[in-house]
Amino acid sequence: MSDAAPSPQRASVLFPMPLPEPFDYAVPEGVRVKPGDHVLAPLGKRSAPGVVWEVGPDDGKRTLKTLDDVRGGPPLSASMREFIDWAARYLVEPPGVVLRAVLRSPGALKPSPTETLYHSTGQTLIRLTPARRAVLDAVEQGPASAAELGRRAGVSASVVKGLAEAGALRAEEAPVDPAFEAPDPHKEGIELNPVQADAAATLRRLVAAGGFQAALLDGVTGSGKTEVYFEAIAELMRREPEAQILVLLPEIALTQAVTKRFKDRFGVEPALWHSGLADKERRRTWREVASGRAKIVAGARSSIFLPFTNLRGVIVDEEHDPTYKQDENLTYNARDLAVARAKLQGAVCVLASATPSLESLVNAEAGRYVHVVLPSRAGGAVLPDIELLDLRENPPEKGEWLSPPLHKAVAETLARGEQAMLYLNRRGFAPLVLCKACGHKMKSPEADRWLVEHRYTGRLVCHVTGFSMPKPKACPECGALESLIGVGPGVERVAEEARQRFPEARVEVFSSDTAQNGDDVRSIVSRMEAGEIDILVGTQIAAKGHNFPHLTLVGVVDADLGLAGGDLRAGERTYQTLVQAAGRAGRADRPGRAILQTWNPDHEALQALANGDRDGFLAAERMMREMLGLPPFGRLAALIVSGPDPAQLDEACQLIARAAPVSDGVQVFGPAEAPLGVVRGRWRRRFLVQAPRNVDVSAFMRAWMGRMKPPSAVRVVLDIEPYSF
Ligand code: ADP
Repeated sequence: MSDAAPSPQRASVLFPMPLPEPFDYAVPEGVRVKPGDHVLAPLGKRSAPGVVWEVGPDDGKRTLKTLDDVRGGPPLSASMREFIDWAARYLVEPPGVVLRAVLRSPGALKPSPTETLYHSTGQTLIRLTPARRAVLDAVEQGPASAAELGRRAGVSASVVKGLAEAGALRAEEAPVDPAFEAPDPHKEGIELNPVQADAAATLRRLVAAGGFQAALLDGVTGSGKTEVYFEAIAELMRREPEAQILVLLPEIALTQAVTKRFKDRFGVEPALWHSGLADKERRRTWREVASGRAKIVAGARSSIFLPFTNLRGVIVDEEHDPTYKQDENLTYNARDLAVARAKLQGAVCVLASATPSLESLVNAEAGRYVHVVLPSRAGGAVLPDIELLDLRENPPEKGEWLSPPLHKAVAETLARGEQAMLYLNRRGFAPLVLCKACGHKMKSPEADRWLVEHRYTGRLVCHVTGFSMPKPKACPECGALESLIGVGPGVERVAEEARQRFPEARVEVFSSDTAQNGDDVRSIVSRMEAGEIDILVGTQIAAKGHNFPHLTLVGVVDADLGLAGGDLRAGERTYQTLVQAAGRAGRADRPGRAILQTWNPDHEALQALANGDRDGFLAAERMMREMLGLPPFGRLAALIVSGPDPAQLDEACQLIARAAPVSDGVQVFGPAEAPLGVVRGRWRRRFLVQAPRNVDVSAFMRAWMGRMKPPSAVRVVLDIEPYSF
C-alpha cells in the first residue's frame, strides 16, 4: 500500500430497531462513507439496512465486521440526526426506534421509478400506414409511454416502437412521479382586514428576525388564522427560496378543501403525508422531502419525522388537538416535537388554534411564544350564540335523545332552508348492549370495554381493539331470544330519531365508520357544502375545521360526555371540542346558533362556554393545575406495565416499584390499574410520575428503566406527558 492510501475508516451504524446504540463496522477499502449515508451492514445472520451515525479512524484494536454495501438515497442531514438523538433522549427510547419512525416509508430509498416516454422527432416518414399516422397524431397531445400512445391511437404498442426504430419518435427515460412544483410566494393572497394584517406583520417580523422563533396564533374559529399563517409561509419562501415548510394538521383536516386553499394561495398543491396515502405516494413525498425538492408539506402528526434538509418553518394548526398525541408504536406529542425541532433547526414555529392548550397559553404568557390574537371572525360572520339546554327541565320524550326545544330549533332551521348539525362524539348505534331478560352486558373479549352496537353493519364492535362480531340472536348468558338491546345513544341512533322526526329531511351520518377514507370525507363535505344534506349527524370528525356556509344550527346531544373520566384535561378538552363544534355554525353571512343539551348546566366548562368567558374558564383551570402541580406547572410521565398473567405482573410491578430512583421532588404513584385494565389478553398496570417543572423527567425515567429487570413476558411502555391521568 502506498503512503497516500487513506487510513481505514470505522463507521457507527444506527439500525431502525430497538437496539441500545449504534454498532461499529469497518469500512471496506476504497469505499468512503459519511454520517447520514444509508448502508447495509451485517447484523446477526443477515444484512440489515441502517444509517451511518459517526465516522472515525479504524485503529484496528478491535476486529470489526465489515459494511456490506452503501445504498443510494439522500443522506439524512446533520440536523435530522441531531433531532433523532434529541427525540430519543426526550422520549426515553433507543435512537433506533426514532430512526424507524423516520424511515417508515417502505422502499423510500429505492431510486425513483422511471418509464420510457416517446417524443416526436419531427422527422417525416415517406410512407405511413394509417396505424402509424394515428400514433403520430396521438403524440401531438404530448409525449407518453408506448402503451399510452397505443391506447390514444387505438393501435398496438408495437406500432410505437416501430416508429421509434424508423426515427420518427425518440425514446426518453423520465421519472414516473412528477416532481413537486415550486410554490409561488409572490402570488397575491386575499385582502387581509386590519387585524389580520397586523397579525401577519408580526409573523413576518419573526421570520425576518431569523433563528428560532415561536408564536401562538390565537384566533376564534373563522378569524382567518390560515390566511395569516399563509403570509408567514410566503415570507419564509421569499427570503429563502430553498426553505422547506411543514404544516401539521389534524389527520382529518387533510381534505381536498385544505389542499385547494394551498393551491389557491401558492399556485401548487402541498406535498401530503398521512395514513391514507398509498405506499407509492408516501415514497414520493418522503423522497422529495429528503432531496429538498418538496417545499411545502401538509401532514399529519408523523410528518414531524420526515427527513427535511432545510426546514425553516413549522406550523401546527389546531395545536390543541388530541390527535397530535400518538400512542401506538412510539408515544409522542407532535406539537411538542414540532417546537423542539424548530428550536434545534433555528426555524420559525407557529402554533394556531381557536382554543389553545393551557400549555401553549402559559408559554405565551411567560414570553416564550409571541402571542398573536385574532378576536373576531373575518368578514361579516359572527360567532354563534351558545345556549345551554337543561335536560332536567326539558327531558327528551321516552326513547328519544333530542329534547323538545332542540327539535323545534331543527324544524325552524330546516324551514328557513338552512342546515343543522347534531353532534355526538359516539360512533355506532348504542354504546352498550344488554340482555333485557338477565341483565348480561356484552363485553369485549379483548379489552376492558363494552361492545358498541353498530346497526348499519349489524355488528358489535370493540372501539379499543377493533374486535367485532355479528350481533347474536340469543343472549350468550341466559339464551333468551331477541333479548339483546342497545342502551344509550350513538350517532346512528340520533340519525334514526332525526329521520323519524323530520321525514322530509336528508339525514346523513358523518363518523369514521361512514367516512373511512379521504374520498368519503370529501364526498360528505362537498354534499354538505352544496346543500344536499339537511341534517348532518356527526362525531368529532364533523366538528373540526370544516366550513359549511349554510349550516346555522349545531345541536350538541350530550355536552356532558367527556367531563367524566380520568383525563386531567377533561374540562379543557370538552371546552375545546364544544367550541369547535359550535364554531361550525354561522360561518358565512347568516348568524349561527349552538344548543348544548346537558344534565349538568352548572359545570364551569359549560358555563364559561355559554358566557363566552374563555379567560374565566382558563383562569380556573390554571389555578387547579398549578395547585396540584400538574402540567404545564409540573411534569408527568407514565409507565404502563403489561403482562399475560396478573399474578406475575403484580410481582413484576413490586420489583419495578423498588427500582425507582429517589430524586428530590419527584413522586412515584402506583402501581394502579391502568385506564384500560385489560387489552388483548394482557393485564395492564400503571405508574405515574409527577415532578416539578425544572426536573428532567426523561432523565429520571431513563435511570429507572435502566435499573429494572422485568421478566420477558412483561412489557414496559413509557409515556412522557401522558394525556390521561
Ligand atoms: P380560521 O383558520 O381562523 O378558522 P380561515 O382562515 O379558515 O379561519 O378563514 C375562515 C373563512 O373566512 C375562510 O373562508 C376565509 O377564506 C375567509 N376569510 C378569512 N379572512 C378573510 C378576509 N380578510 N376577507 C375575506 N374572507 C376572509
